[in-house]
Amino acid sequence: MTKIFDLTGRTAIVTGANTGIGQGIALALAEAGANIAAVGRSAATETVEKARALGVKAEIISADLSSIEPVGRIVDETVEKLGGLDILVNNAGIIRRNDSLDFTEEDWDAVIDTNLKSTFFLCQAAGRHMAAQGRGKIINIASMLSFQGGIRVPSYTASKSGVAGLTKLLACEWAAKGINVNAIAPGYIATNNTAQLQADETRNRQIVERIPAGRWGDPADLGGAAVFLASSASDYVQGHILAVDGGWLAR
Ligand code: NDP
Repeated sequence: MTKIFDLTGRTAIVTGANTGIGQGIALALAEAGANIAAVGRSAATETVEKARALGVKAEIISADLSSIEPVGRIVDETVEKLGGLDILVNNAGIIRRNDSLDFTEEDWDAVIDTNLKSTFFLCQAAGRHMAAQGRGKIINIASMLSFQGGIRVPSYTASKSGVAGLTKLLACEWAAKGINVNAIAPGYIATNNTAQLQADETRNRQIVERIPAGRWGDPADLGGAAVFLASSASDYVQGHILAVDGGWLAR
């Protein structure tokens, strides 16, 4: 590992680390040497075992981010169990699909609370710790729908546009405190979240045909971008939203 990408001795919180993109990112950070606090509703047992096998410390932190109640505890437990906090990856997220004419308040609130509100308040809790130590790296998981409209996903699109805006605002507010705040915008990545689309033969073909790379992304495809944004290699990168999408947005 080139030294600028080395995360040895650093500690990362990754939310939604039990599966999909969160697991891919957690394991890439662990491979680069970071200790992992794997946060989520389901226990991230597999992620933690795989991270430990890579020679780092890893702990499960149980928390439901549909409310902001656990954000302070997540930071405190991470520091207590792993000895510090240097990196935050806000990855936990949900999607609800329905026509905008029929969209319910419940589906609106559930998505905004998990994807946007908890992201902000976990940034705040981690940001206080990072500001006090004079350094930190925050990576928010945005989406192609931070830039595009989409169809039948109004609360998701609003949440991910919000995440993009928030990333830029926090980058401006906290740059002078030594905190880098950036985002990754994944393209179509094969996870539980997208299982329905993958299973729909017609939709799946349309998607793959439109992706310049000609394939779905894999959670491991996000690892390099996460290690870059978590490492000293990105010390002068602020408020950037890095698309990892096989060229989808470039088209
Ligand atoms: P998955 O459904 O595989 O993973 C979502 C993760 O979020 C799970 O670990 C889930 O764990 C966790 N999570 C959901 N709700 C909560 C909650 N209330 N509290 C704590 N954890 C929660 O999906 P992906 O890996 O695809 O999604 C990860 C992120 O990437 C999301 O923010 C998503 O919007 C984003 N994204 C995904 C894309 C894709 O194509 N897959 C494209 C663009 C963005 P559990 O349910 O056990 O709590």
